[in-house]
Parts: sequence; C-alpha cells; structure tokens
Amino acid sequence: MAQQYPEWIWQNGAIKPWAEATAHVMSHALHYGSSVFEGIRSYATPDGAAIFRLTDHLSRLYHSAKIYDMVLPYTRDELAAACREVIKKNGLSAAYLRPVAWRGLGGFGLSAETPIDVAVAAWPMGPYLGPEALEQGITACVSSWQRFAPNTIPAGAKAGGNYLSGQLIAREARRLGFGEGIALASSGLLSEGAGENLFLVFDGALHTTPASASILTGITRHSLITLAREDGIEVIERDIPREYLYLADEVFMCGTAAEVTPIRAIDGKQVGAGKAGRVTRRIQELFFGLFNGKTNDQWGWLEPV
Ligand code: PMP
Repeated sequence: MAQQYPEWIWQNGAIKPWAEATAHVMSHALHYGSSVFEGIRSYATPDGAAIFRLTDHLSRLYHSAKIYDMVLPYTRDELAAACREVIKKNGLSAAYLRPVAWRGLGGFGLSAETPIDVAVAAWPMGPYLGPEALEQGITACVSSWQRFAPNTIPAGAKAGGNYLSGQLIAREARRLGFGEGIALASSGLLSEGAGENLFLVFDGALHTTPASASILTGITRHSLITLAREDGIEVIERDIPREYLYLADEVFMCGTAAEVTPIRAIDGKQVGAGKAGRVTRRIQELFFGLFNGKTNDQWGWLEPV
C-alpha cells in the first residue's frame, strides 16, 4: 500500500516521510468522525502545474471547520504553501491533494476541545470513475440510502463523518454492479451522487439540485455553472423529482475527482442516446479546456504550483 503513495506528507507544519505521518489511535476523529477535509486537483497545464481553485477549496475547509468549532492552527496562506510544497517535493504535476484537519489526542468527550492536527497529502490521480468513464459514461442507480436531513448533519460541511453516508451509497451501487449511486434527499427529491453533484439536461438547459437538497455545493459544480452561463447555456438550480432522471436528455455528475462524468443509464434505463450528449460534451470541452489552454481562465482559477 505504502509504495503507491508519494514519499512526502506535510503534517503539523513540517514535511515528513510517508511512514512518519501518523495519528494516535485515541485521536477523537477516529472514534467520532470529527475531521474536515478537501479534495483538490492539480493539473499539468501549458504554463506548468497549477492547482485548480486552491484558494476556494481552502476557504471551504475553514468553513467546514467553523461549523464544528475547530480552529485550525494555520492560516489559509500557510496551508496553500503546504499544498504547493507537497506537490513540488513529491515531483507531482497532475495529482490529487488532500488537506485534512482533525480533532486529535487530548480529550475524549464529544465536546472536548482537543488539539487540531492538520496534514496535506498528494498522489497522482487519473479519472476517478474509471478511464473510459469520461467518454462513454457510467451506469448509476438511485440508492436505497437517503442523504441526511438538513437538520441532522450539515451537508455543507465537508466533514469525515458525512462520508459514512457516501460509503453506504457508493458501496451499495458497486455491489449491485452500477458505477455510482445517486441519493435522494430526506424530502424524497434528488440530492446528489455519493461524492459528486448532479446535472440533468432538458432542451439544452442545465438543471441542478439546490443547496437545500442536502448537497455539498461543489466547487466543480460552481465552475461548471459559471462556464455554462458564460457560454450562453441556461442553468437552473431547482428541486428535481427522481423520475426526471429517466426523462432527461442527458445526465452527468461532477466533482473534483469525477470531473465531468456522463451517466449513460440509471436504474437500468438508458439516459438519452446512452452516451455523452451534446451539452455534456460541450461542458467537458469548456472544463478540460481550462487545463489545456483552450478555455480562457478569466477567473484566476488556475493557481500556479
Ligand atoms: N458532493 C459530495 C458529497 C462530494 O464529496 C463532492 C466531492 N468533494 C462533491 C459533491 C463535489 O465537490 P467538489 O466539486 O468541490 O469536489
């Protein structure tokens, strides 16, 4: 396992060899899910390696921490420097970055004020849902597990504990032979994928579920909404009933790991033509264009390593 990972990890202010970046078994987070984290990609662009929306991802990390009263002992600039350092020190360019902060050792009550440990790891990463997924699309099913209701666990925090829900949804889908699972919200309306936001296409317009549908409001989702609107594609954030999945012209998922992944069938029903549709392909072109220089990054989303 160890050899799949790059040699260096940043932890609590210093770069360490992979094997030394450890946490104690009595860490609060291990028992209670009290961690917050980010998933960020760096890309090899014509102008060198760049981290996609690093500042926005780190801002979300601080927002997640605030919700759980975790005060990170580093500034956003210090963590941004740590992210860059981990990419450089490991000689990476196209990679996945994982900053994580957790309640560590030093108190075991649920409301204990433990020290907050912080680490940043990085590793090379290709398409998350399989190499063919970006072109041919994946299959998906609607999960028998619902997302947590908004007054239970806040979906807007990217916290470790939330991913128990994601694991149930993803594992059930894969056990049943599907590429990914899609969850309904406690309202019974569509929420999102196990670890991805969801877009449906009707008559050339994009429809996506709102923050009130217990989603993590993804940074990729925001990027795609921005790129689409700039390109003259209408985007509507709205409550979406499950059956619209079967009636949409196109459906795709998005996220840092999933990027823009078409869905070709849901619950065994073909979506549209059963392959990436015209709008999905345009969105992919705009999104991946950011990294090959074909889409002008007028927003400063590419932050050089
Ligand atoms: N929803 C969930 C539950 C996720 O885990 C992710 C991945 N972080 C997303 C949506 C997409 O978010 P982003 O585009 O910021 O990666």
